[in-house]
Parts: sequence; C-alpha cells; structure tokens
Amino acid sequence: MFSADTLTRFNTIKTPFYYYNLDVLGQTLKQASTSAGKYNYHVHYALKANSNDKVLELMNHYGFGADCVSGGEVQRAVDCNFSSNKIVFAGVGKSDDEINLALANNIFCFNVESVAELKVLNELAVAANKTARIALRINPNVNANTHKYITTGLEENKFGINVWELDGVLNLLNNLSSLEFIGLHFHIGSQITDLSVFKNLCLRVNELNQHLASKRITPKIINVGGGLGINYHEPDSQAIPDFEAYFGLFNQFLEVQPGQEVHFELGRALVAQCGSLITKVLYIKNGIKTNFAIVDAGMNNLIRPALYQAYHKIENLTNLNAAVEKYDVVGPICESSDCFGKAVALPPTVRGHLIAIRSAGAYGEVMASDYNLKPRAEAVYSV
Ligand SMILES: *Cc1c(COP(=O)(O)O)cnc(C)c1O
Repeated sequence: MFSADTLTRFNTIKTPFYYYNLDVLGQTLKQASTSAGKYNYHVHYALKANSNDKVLELMNHYGFGADCVSGGEVQRAVDCNFSSNKIVFAGVGKSDDEINLALANNIFCFNVESVAELKVLNELAVAANKTARIALRINPNVNANTHKYITTGLEENKFGINVWELDGVLNLLNNLSSLEFIGLHFHIGSQITDLSVFKNLCLRVNELNQHLASKRITPKIINVGGGLGINYHEPDSQAIPDFEAYFGLFNQFLEVQPGQEVHFELGRALVAQCGSLITKVLYIKNGIKTNFAIVDAGMNNLIRPALYQAYHKIENLTNLNAAVEKYDVVGPICESSDCFGKAVALPPTVRGHLIAIRSAGAYGEVMASDYNLKPRAEAVYSV
C-alpha cells in the first residue's frame, strides 16, 4: 500500500527502482526484537538478504547481530559498526583471505561446515596467533518443505557436517589447539511457512544436545539459523511475520541446558516486506492466451521468479480500478524466464503505467546483475 504522496513522488523517479518503506522495516524489527527478547533469544541478521547501509543501520539500532556468508559481508558488518562480538560467519567455501579477515576482526564465531575447513581454520588461527571460536554447522536431515533450491538441511545438500560425523569431529577438536568449540549451528532452508518444520528441527536439536550432555559436553550456544517465511500473497495485511508464534514455538519445543544461549539468524522475514521493485510499462503486446505487459525491470533486477519460480504480488499503481484483465508481466531481458508473473490480474494497463512488484526487500537488490548490460535499479527510501 502506497500513500498518494508516495505515488506522486514515484512519478518523479527514474524507473526501475527499489523502494524501501523504513516504517514497515522499523515496525518489523521492533516486533521481532520484542518477541525474541521475551525468551532472551539472540538474533543475528543474515546480511545476504539485503546489505544496504540504511537497512544495516536500523538492524544495528534494534540490537541485531550480523550473520555473514562471505568476507565482503564481514567487512560490511564491520564498516556498519556491528560490534565484532555480534558477527558470525557461515558458508561452505570460506577462502583463506576471508578467514584471515574474520580472524583479524576477532569475530564472535565461525560456523564451520566441514572437517577440511576445521583444519584450515586452525592452521590460519595458529599463524595469526589467534583463537577462533567455532560452532559446528550440523546437517540435521530435516526437510524444510520449501523450494528445492532453498532447502539446505537434507543429507543430499552441500551444507554442514553430517550427524554421524559429530563424535569424530569432537575428538578431532581436541587436537586443534587454536579452535574453541562454543556451539552447534543449524540452518535448514528458507521461506519456511509450515511451522511444524521448526518443531521437527527442535526435536532433532534436542537429541543432539542430549547426546552431547551424556558426554559431559555443553555447548554454550545453540544456533537454530533462520528460514522463517513471509506471506508473498498478502504484503499489506501480513506485512509483519508472526514472530510471536515463531519464537514461542522454539520456547515450547527446544530443550536447552542451564546456561545455554539460543541464537537465530533471520534474513528474509526481517526485510522482505519493506521493499518493492517499482517499474514502468514500456509496451503492451498481444499474446495468444494473455497479453504481455513488458516492463522496464527485468530478471537482472529481481531474479527470484526466474530462479525459484517465486511468486511476487504485482500491482498497477497508476490505474487503481478493479483487475479485469490478465497479463503476463515480463521484463526486457533476452530470456523467456524473464517473467515476473503469468496471467496476472490487473486493471486495463497501458504504456507509462507504474507497476509495483511487492515483497522484494529480501534477495532482490542483492542478487542484481549487469546481465544484458542493463543498469542496476537504484534504492529509494521512504522519507
Ligand atoms: C541465508 C542464511 C540465513 C537466512 O535465511 P532466511 O531464510 O533469509 O531467514 C541464515 N543462516 C544462514 C547460514 C544462511 O545461509
């Protein structure tokens, strides 16, 4: 939903552009931090969802830490004043340079994804004369019931250390003197809307936590990752995800040992609904079943529909009448997958109309490319 003033402003800005509503973002962050705070849960924001400075500034303001998956993100978090004891670093393929950067910044924790990585991290920590705090990312073999490209916690996926390797890894850690084992880490996928998936995760984590307790090992941190989904169909009536239900479920099902902290890594749920991609209709073209509305934004600006068959709500911002026509809303890129929605119900739409592609605040701008040498969409913020 955009105010009349906002729509007037949109007409003065060169399309396509990303529009971020900072009120929605602020309200979302406030709600998330209140709900998590009830149980003393710690939340690190997954920078890869959206790493714009203004977004990071607000994250910092509301007390979120930073969950990074590259050296570039670690550097961005440092540059945006996240304190180093609130920066964690995950990823299956950390390069030596990235590890050294994170060591130099004394980040809070490396979420380590393989035995090979443990050995390299130890060598680099020895060379740098540092101790690296580590959490072991465990692949819990829990199905996230989401798109297969964003499922990460099944044994067939590349992420994490398999459950049956855990005991061997713990033994190995005794010989890796520059690593300090502080936690278990899990992240099973993204856009998870079926909360029972998180219950399954809790039960799996409980088993592992009990197993470690039986060996007199109590990791200080249980990090259950992120993945909470949002409602792409109702960006206005469900702008803020149900954080109460989400954190409440963990409180109900996760059994922690005395002194253990619970950490989360949310990305999408915090930022998706505050953003829209605003684009202009260039041409209407007749098709066989439906007409095409060809817009000036493409998959180079927002790749989610092409990459994951993702749904985004599409609205005509110029003609606010009832949706009585159907259009395939497509971009200018030379790929048939450059389509934002098929048979989208819209009011009669003509060249020059502004179109909003909603819920584009997460995994939108960050995944933009220069494909076809099309310019990037700029970021515009609510005032
Ligand atoms: C991407 C990612 C997240 C965030 O996922 P969302 O679905 O955006 O909440 C959290 N942790 C790790 C390790 C990730 O790779």
